[in-house]
Amino acid sequence: MIQGIVVRENGAAIEEFDESFIPDGDVLVDVDWSDLNYKDGLAVTGRPGVVRTTPLVAGIDLVGTVVESTNPRWGVGDTLILNGAGLSETKHGGYATRARVDGERAVAVPDGLTAEQCAALGTAGYTAALAVMRIVSEGLTPADGPVLVTGATGGVGSIATMLLATAGFHVAAVTGRAEEHGDYLRDLGAAELIDRSALSEAGRPLQKASWCAVVDSVGGEVLANAIARTSPGGVVAACGLAGSTSLPTTVMPFILRGVTLAGIDSVWAPLDDRADAWRLLARGVDTDRLAAMTTRIGLADVIAAGGELLAGRRHGRTLVELS
Ligand code: NDP
Repeated sequence: MIQGIVVRENGAAIEEFDESFIPDGDVLVDVDWSDLNYKDGLAVTGRPGVVRTTPLVAGIDLVGTVVESTNPRWGVGDTLILNGAGLSETKHGGYATRARVDGERAVAVPDGLTAEQCAALGTAGYTAALAVMRIVSEGLTPADGPVLVTGATGGVGSIATMLLATAGFHVAAVTGRAEEHGDYLRDLGAAELIDRSALSEAGRPLQKASWCAVVDSVGGEVLANAIARTSPGGVVAACGLAGSTSLPTTVMPFILRGVTLAGIDSVWAPLDDRADAWRLLARGVDTDRLAAMTTRIGLADVIAAGGELLAGRRHGRTLVELS
């Protein structure tokens, strides 16, 4: 029997089921690892916004070993990574010992990382990489000034901080937990810490230009103030909504400073971008630091850990061991 976390109308729980419960997909995988992201926290605690059909196996990520495949890209024994692509939204996800997935959006483990490290990075790491790729693709370099990272102790923020610091950028890390986790952020490469309260009050739409780019996980007033302080020609990569879905700004930063607001969608990113993002992670992640920021849990701990993540009581990355 397969063991997994199934979300139903009345909440999520560990259940046992057979392969007939997971009929769709051209690749059958023994799941070795998954991980915990903000969206997983929402799904396993029964909150709205992620799971769109029930019953559904939760888990937006999986790393596993192929046991059957009708997809020419994958053969028995291959290891694949799948992030997003509808997992835990409309398709059964990675919080199960076995999964049937669409092989078209899966990628191989990049040279330089192990399967386990890829799972520890998960959607958070891969999203951070997509954001950094977007900033760099606009031609911005460390010579253009600091980069602001919000929600810095979170998954996306932590990995973005590490990737940007490795690429030579001066990273200004915004956090609500500087006292508790200041050393953690400095170890990841943050050159400067900014208390979240400095950006969370409503401000003018144009303020002193302070950074050339932003990786934002939180939305709301923090994002509005981050945009207001972005220098001419800068890029703001909007990744998340951990604080708010609102964006209380005006057109001024866009038409007077030429700031670009770049949306990052990891769920449906094309295959080439996925592969590029994973290669960037292989180059830019310090695997010792990744190990130090990663907590391991089993399937039985995921629901409680999801509640802690949403309550702001976890930081870094959480790896879920399934095999
Ligand atoms: P985490 O929970 O790991 O990190 C979120 C961080 O945001 C927290 O650690 C905290 O950082 C900060 N934060 C939490 N609550 C608030 C608040 N009320 N106001 C301001 N800041 C807050 O989540 P992830 O890193 O996994 O995801 C971050 C966001 O990105 C989520 O909204 C998620 O849904 C989204 N996301 C989007 C993706 C996409 O494809 N666009 C893919 C992956 C994630 P600190 O304490 O340091 O301030």
